Parts: sequence; C-alpha cells; structure tokens
Amino acid sequence: MERLSANEATKLDSLFGKVGKTVIVSHTRPDGDAAGSCVAMKRFLDDNYGGEHLIVLDNAVNVAVNFLFEYGGVPVYFDKEPAAAGKALSDAGLIICLDVSGPARTGCLEKFIRASSAPKILFDHHLSPETEIFTTLISCTEVSSTCELLYDSLLKMPQIAGSTSRLSLECLTALMTGITTDTNNFGNSVFPGTLEAVAGMLAAGVDREAIVNHVFNEYRENRIRLMGHLLASVMKITENGVAYIVLSGETSRKYDIMEGELEGIVNMPLAIKSVRMSIFVREDEGFLRVSIRSKRGTSANGIAVKYFNGGGHELASGGKLFWPKDIARKEDAEDYIRKVTGEYFRNES
Ligand code: 5GP
Ligand code: MN
Repeated sequence: MERLSANEATKLDSLFGKVGKTVIVSHTRPDGDAAGSCVAMKRFLDDNYGGEHLIVLDNAVNVAVNFLFEYGGVPVYFDKEPAAAGKALSDAGLIICLDVSGPARTGCLEKFIRASSAPKILFDHHLSPETEIFTTLISCTEVSSTCELLYDSLLKMPQIAGSTSRLSLECLTALMTGITTDTNNFGNSVFPGTLEAVAGMLAAGVDREAIVNHVFNEYRENRIRLMGHLLASVMKITENGVAYIVLSGETSRKYDIMEGELEGIVNMPLAIKSVRMSIFVREDEGFLRVSIRSKRGTSANGIAVKYFNGGGHELASGGKLFWPKDIARKEDAEDYIRKVTGEYFRNES
C-alpha cells in the first residue's frame, strides 16, 4: 500500500485501542526523521489511546534532534539496556517500524522484531521495502520524509479527521523536525504535499525557527573546524565529478568528533557546480561507513547498492565498506572509490 486509506485508518484505530503494549522502532543511528517520527507516533498514541507506548532504538547518537525526546519520552536504547530493549520487543502486542525499509536497518533490534508474532506496521519512504513481514505497509517514496507520510496518515485517523490542530504541538513539532532534516531545510525532496503539511503545522503553532536553531545552529565548534579542514585539505574530486572525503580515525580523534557530529558534511561538496556525486567515508568499528549524495540525474542508490553494500534513496544513500572483503586494507578506500566510480560512470554513459 502507498498512503494510508480511510478504511485502513479505521482498522488501525481499533487495533491501537486494543493493544496493551506498543513498541515503536526506527533505524540504528537515528536521525531527525527517525527520532521525529518515533516521537510523533508515541505522542499520538499517548494522546489518544490507553496502554503502554515505548520507543526502542538500537543506539543514541549525539544529534541536535535529541531535544525531541525531552517531551516525547526517553527511548530504551539497546546498546545501553539490551535486556530491557529485548524484553520490550518480545512482550509487544504491536510493533510500529518507522523510517526503515525493513528490520535489517534496526541493528540489534532486528532479531527480536523477526521473532515477534505481534502485528507489525511500517511507515516508510525508502526504496524497496521488505513487504512480507508487515501486516500493514504504508510505504511511499513521493514524500519528503517518513514524518510527512506519518502526518498524512495521522490526519486520516478518525479522531483527527483532517484537523491538524487535533494533533498535539509536541507531535507536530516532532513531525516538522523530521521534514526539516530529511529535506536539508527544504533544499531537496520537497513535494507539494510537503509544503501543504508544513503550512498546516505552522498554522497550528509549530515554532519552525526554534527547530531550525536546534538542528542547524547548535553544533560544537569542533565540527565546524573539522569541516573546514576536510573541505580545504582532504576532499578530492575525480574527473567524473565525484567528490570524496575519507576521514581517518586519527583526524576524527584530533578534532574530538563524537558520534553523530559528522551528519550533513557529505552534502557540502555538492555545492560545487562540477560535482555530481559526493562520497563521505569514515572509520567505524571494524568497517568504513559510507554516505553518498548525488544531484538529479545521478543515482546515489545505484552506486550504494552496487559497490558499498548499502542503499537508501535515489539521491541520498549509505553503505559500508569492509576489509579485507571489499578492499585489502582500510587505507585503500580512496583507490576503491576512484576505481568503482570510474567503472560506474563508464558503464552509465
Ligand atoms: P546517511 O548517509 O545519512 O547515513 O544515510 C543516507 C540514507 O542512506 C538514509 O536514508 C539511510 O536510510 C540509507 N542508508 C545509510 N546506511 C545504509 C546502509 O548501510 N544500508 C542501507 N540499505 N541503507 C543505508
Ligand atoms: Mn527518512
């Protein structure tokens, strides 16, 4: 199914009313859309139904969107409380997956989700969702974000009946945050429905400037200094218009970079006219984490799937690079990027 139908909304309403314990999950290393959709879903359920509603996530990252959890309920994080997180999923009467194409993107939560016999609902905007596991699948790529799709869906619920002001300000703020981050503050993936959703939220009183300040103007100085260093001295551009940055563990430590503080750096090289794709690589635990962004007409997803064990959206994807499987040593990442992008664009033309 694409968007939620009125009939399906009625069914969800009766399901939400019956379930004792609902667990809401999203992808590992949650970003604004993940955190925003989880908090909005929880607030909607808390505001309208009895029972227990819990957000369970694989891990927390140091991102500006964590302010949402202050009024959305602190999640149970698997990396901090594995037993509690596992038990919550095992006991759940309903599992709602948000902003993931399937359980595989939820990190350590995956095996508990797959083992659960509870009904499972998906709200997501990624390519190629895993269909078999979900009892209700709301999946649409013609939206900016999961938050936009969730807003569209919540408006169809009987108690909301199209009236934005019946959603709490906390729920709407969380939704607006996810839309703001997934569109890079309305720089990409903006559909007519995106602006209609935002217009409704603004009219209902959401403080967009406060969100923008939280998300874009509360970085630590270290991140901005690292960004300057990377753009000035580390970024390279191939003859095919692929900009790439490989951030070593050593540089990361030198700038005291914390988990989550590298968010968005991959977008910057796209500001150069001749660059059609940007690849950002950094060391993670035992592998290299890859972020890919592209301009219209070039597929970030295609290259992520083919060469980086990943996927995502057409113009924004991610993946991983393993050694010695993909490259002999981690130091070979730059050569690998040059080789595979050269091959990819040769085949494309
Ligand atoms: P980011 O570069 O911000 O980490 O991720 C960009 C997009 O790619 C996100 O929509 C995310 O869901 C997707 N993505 C990131 N890492 C992976 C991965 O390892 N596998 C897949 N299939 N998608 C990923
Ligand atoms: Mn998203």
